[in-house]
Amino acid sequence: MTTSTVSPPMVWSLERYFPVFNGPEMTTFKEKLQGDILQLTANARQMPDLDPASAASWEKIILALEEAQMRLEHWSSYVSCLEAAHAADEAYPRERGEINRTQAALDRIDIELVRAFKTADAEGFEAFVQRPALKPIAYALERIHARSRFSMSPALERLATDLNLDGIQAWGRLYDRLSGKLNFTLRLADGKTEVKPISQWRSLMAHTDRRIGRAAFEAGNRAWQSIEDTCAAALNAIAGTRLTLYRHRKRHHFLDEPLFKAGIERRTLDAMYAAVRECIDLPRDFLKIKAAAMGRRNIAFFEREAPLPVAAGEPLSWSRAVALVGRAFTDVYPALGAHFRRMLQSGWIESEARANKRPGAFCTRSKMTGEQRVYMTFNGTLGDVTTLAHETGHAWHGHLLSTMRPWSQNYPMTLAETASIFAEHILAEGLYASPEVDDDQKRAMLDEDLSGMAVLLLDITTRFAFESAFYEERQAGELSVSRFKQLMVAAQQETYGASLAADGEDPYFWASKLHFYISALSFYNFPYTFGYLLARTLVARFREEGQAFLPRYEALLTASGSNTVETVVAQALDEDITRRAFWRDAIRGLTVDLGRYRKLLSAHT
Ligand SMILES: [Zn+2]
Repeated sequence: MTTSTVSPPMVWSLERYFPVFNGPEMTTFKEKLQGDILQLTANARQMPDLDPASAASWEKIILALEEAQMRLEHWSSYVSCLEAAHAADEAYPRERGEINRTQAALDRIDIELVRAFKTADAEGFEAFVQRPALKPIAYALERIHARSRFSMSPALERLATDLNLDGIQAWGRLYDRLSGKLNFTLRLADGKTEVKPISQWRSLMAHTDRRIGRAAFEAGNRAWQSIEDTCAAALNAIAGTRLTLYRHRKRHHFLDEPLFKAGIERRTLDAMYAAVRECIDLPRDFLKIKAAAMGRRNIAFFEREAPLPVAAGEPLSWSRAVALVGRAFTDVYPALGAHFRRMLQSGWIESEARANKRPGAFCTRSKMTGEQRVYMTFNGTLGDVTTLAHETGHAWHGHLLSTMRPWSQNYPMTLAETASIFAEHILAEGLYASPEVDDDQKRAMLDEDLSGMAVLLLDITTRFAFESAFYEERQAGELSVSRFKQLMVAAQQETYGASLAADGEDPYFWASKLHFYISALSFYNFPYTFGYLLARTLVARFREEGQAFLPRYEALLTASGSNTVETVVAQALDEDITRRAFWRDAIRGLTVDLGRYRKLLSAHT
């Protein structure tokens, strides 16, 4: 690719969503959508439950609902782009409020569907989803049917939804408010103190200077300690509400719902964690090798994301970043390289570093246009180049899905990071092989990559172990602050073993980790480890089989919203993810990277 076509920092083009924000096209679009939703709700309300006589009318409602959801997502995706790229503009958060209200209206039709499906028997339902217009979205419909089996009466479900606003969701909001306002006082080496917002805590703990990291860790935890009773009350109430609802919905185990959302079975989760426990020395060894390079035996929990103290390389230009990603993709996966080129040429990427942009990166897409947009801020680091590859991987997944019906394009969190990690890996292989990247940079890249691995295999496993132990005990009553601390310390010691220094635990991690307080979902942890290990397996197969593997890879991505994860992987890869050996192989594949790390570090010292 010639650099001249892509050298300026990129500002994306959003006209394919709407010509202008809240211009006549967009206003008409919204009015039509909201009118259609009202009409559809009225129609669904007066429908009898699903039976052969009502099947044709329900089909019509479902097709209209699928289409309305797609239009709402188009609008929402557009506003996500604007909110991120123009963070100071107040019009976009206002628009977000209207989107949320429209989504709530659409969700009321979902309640009617659940009600209508609840009385349908297996045979009748099977006949219904075999109708030609519904067959391509059969899996999505089967999931609604499955949800209906675990629902209370419509009146009770409506009451629960209303009460949740001032109950479980209010606890989540309280936590967000309190934690958002939290400050900590950092004492620097020269004796000066500085008050910092908690939003800077994590990056300060990951400082290359471990003394700053430790000072930040201790100061931050004093702040968390000051709100420990409120955090404990919120955590107890959030879990308590869930356990009550599970009981009334006849869910037998607290993992049933998170597993359903993740699209996997219990035995798959158990197989994965059995393998993680069996191979736990591998990520622990990485931390020990890293500690040894710093003249120590192990690390403290707070520094698990801190990089090796190596000098940052020269900043890269955008055109050089584009060339690195483009070449790495095109060399081994030409179709991915071509899609990347198309994204650049069509203005689908926003990378300019300027004021009033939100931090972070994401990929969003519209099922209406079949197009994707990547958002990021390019500051010239190798990490930014990796982000570009990662988000382009998401975009490629979205592109492959665009041939499917809207409701068959919704994949679970367990498959959400497959394509992004795969693309990241292709870039990394390209960079490791490149003579243009020096050893210091290679070391920093691999260190970051493996630190991520250790977070996914150790930190996330700690969170899962803690949350499981907490839910187990919460069934018998509320837990005290000291019990939360005990459970958290025990989970860290058990998972990290000797790679964690004595006294290196973080007893307040249950309070400081936002993920435990998300009111909409529990166990926001295991899908990360799952997705990472699955992606690593695909990478290993690609290494072995080369480009011949790519049609299978693409089949997996294309089917990611059409079946259970077990079935999707079995059909595309001929692999059984309920077997422990599948996961063991995925983890053992990491020994290659660990060996490379050891070698790069010993060359350095
Ligand atoms: Zn991602």
